[in-house]
Amino acid sequence: MLHKSKLALAITLLGTTSASLMIGNKSATAASLYQHVLLLSVDGLRESDLTDPSLQAALTNINGLKSTGITYTNASTSTPSDSFPGVLNYLTGASPKTTGVYYDDSYSRTLTAPGGTVATPKGTEVNLAENIDKNLTYLAGGAPGSGANYGVNSIDPTQLPLDCSSGTCKQVYPHDYLQTNTIFQVAANAGLYTAYSDKHPAYDIANGNSKYNATPGKLAINDLYSPEINSNVALLDKTTNKTVDPKTLPNNVNLNNYTLVDASTDPLGPNDPNLKSGTTEFKRTAKYDDLKVQAILNEINGKNSLGTTNDPVPAIFGMNFQAVSVAEKSPTGGIPTAGNPSTELTNALSHTDASIGQIVNALSTNGLLNNTLVVLTAKHGQDPRIGKGTLVKESIITNALTAAGISVNQNTSDDSSYVWLTNQSQAAQAQTVLQGLKALPLCGGTVQSNCNPGIQNVFLGNQLSGFGNPSQDSRTPDLAVQLLPGFVLAGNGAVTNGTKIAEHGGFPTTGDATNVALIVSGGLSANLRGVTNNSAVSTTQVAVTTLDALGLDPSQLVGAKIEGTKALPGIASLSVGAASVPEPSTTGGLIGFLSLFGIFSLRSRLKG
Ligand SMILES: [Zn+2]
Repeated sequence: MLHKSKLALAITLLGTTSASLMIGNKSATAASLYQHVLLLSVDGLRESDLTDPSLQAALTNINGLKSTGITYTNASTSTPSDSFPGVLNYLTGASPKTTGVYYDDSYSRTLTAPGGTVATPKGTEVNLAENIDKNLTYLAGGAPGSGANYGVNSIDPTQLPLDCSSGTCKQVYPHDYLQTNTIFQVAANAGLYTAYSDKHPAYDIANGNSKYNATPGKLAINDLYSPEINSNVALLDKTTNKTVDPKTLPNNVNLNNYTLVDASTDPLGPNDPNLKSGTTEFKRTAKYDDLKVQAILNEINGKNSLGTTNDPVPAIFGMNFQAVSVAEKSPTGGIPTAGNPSTELTNALSHTDASIGQIVNALSTNGLLNNTLVVLTAKHGQDPRIGKGTLVKESIITNALTAAGISVNQNTSDDSSYVWLTNQSQAAQAQTVLQGLKALPLCGGTVQSNCNPGIQNVFLGNQLSGFGNPSQDSRTPDLAVQLLPGFVLAGNGAVTNGTKIAEHGGFPTTGDATNVALIVSGGLSANLRGVTNNSAVSTTQVAVTTLDALGLDPSQLVGAKIEGTKALPGIASLSVGAASVPEPSTTGGLIGFLSLFGIFSLRSRLKG
């Protein structure tokens, strides 16, 4: 009875004042289907991992999300499939040509190198990773007393590129290197509380360009917790109070018996030989991930990331898991042959899967499961998925160009290569030179000169979708070199020592680096549970769906608007689930119910 009258009123509103109701309603979340969106990313997780029979035992909780949600089997991340553009896909709804961010380590033709002056020639590498930390050896991104806070205060401004275009040089923080806004800014501008957790303080980039902040000088994300993954950490045995070398522990060890320490907390002091980069062994990485899992659990429990203050449960929050990616790259990890995953990979995946289970349980315990949209995806996959990659010295590409009289400003190489030239008018010539390498025998093993580094295609920057025109855009690479599946470019040491078997960043034809996992779950109506959607989608669409779910206006997302990014398909009927949402108990709730029923469904249908 009550349902019926609301429904009638909702239909009336649809035809009359629904749009103004939304715009005028600052407390948009009170009016929407969902109060929260939780974005979980598992670095390296491919769609093909989700369906691999040999990995199912490690996917219990992820399969739980599948059974209560929609699985998109044909989801692509960005090209390049690097962490920064990958995460920006779902935080901005836009590709690199619009965000201006092609890689963690990229190049700008108009910015000036850190420490430069107005007289310094323009053009600089822009590396926004652990290198900009105050002190990358500490988890906080800086030593105790340095002001490092796992976020923007952990960044050393003297390491930042400079914008000297106005006659004085200004440091460019990661958030201002991004040319667009993010979903966090749209939420913040609507007065909502947000949190985010990722792998370096440089993930300040998620705050978005400050010109889009409603409150000048205030960053969008209320609680940014980005402990440094490359800090030196050790596993401390809780029983013996001594650190251990994780390599001496079995891969299925119960990691709950250990805590993660860095130089500031290690009882053996900063010279403990067990203090090593968090990416050196998957157990270190798993414990590192646990820090961020704890932050999410704290946030679900109404605390800040560190658990030290009471705060609202964020409207948008999320984290990135790294252990699976580390296990995929490890020479003793990955999937050596089809059907036989390494114990490193299965244990890393099990650990991550168990963490996802903990998070979902915490949502359930707090009564948040039905009003939290849970998105599980990945910034990138890893190539090759099966077997060991062929490692090739990355210098082969630069050397071939240099030998032809073509000077290279920057070459960023992983399982593809992106090249910024000194003289852009040589781009076509450079394309021909690199294509010519295909006539040589393939590189690999000890054959690392006079060989083809695995070149499949060489594109000019403007020939790839998602790329700008390098002659007009200061950041688009002049060339993008697509490698044969399984070829990985690396530094000389990594090639000689065989320190990795897989990588990402490229766009291999197999999709191993780009066809990522994507599951949308949480509070969906029965008809949307356990659904598989095979249409080709981009993870950029997650950004639009996130704002839709919260009743926020996706057209506020400038990158998504420029690119015409639509919500994920098959979610339009989310609004059908409105009837099964628990009855709102207040007047605000009544309006909320009407809004979600009318406006949410309308926008979803328009967005496809
Ligand atoms: Zn990554």
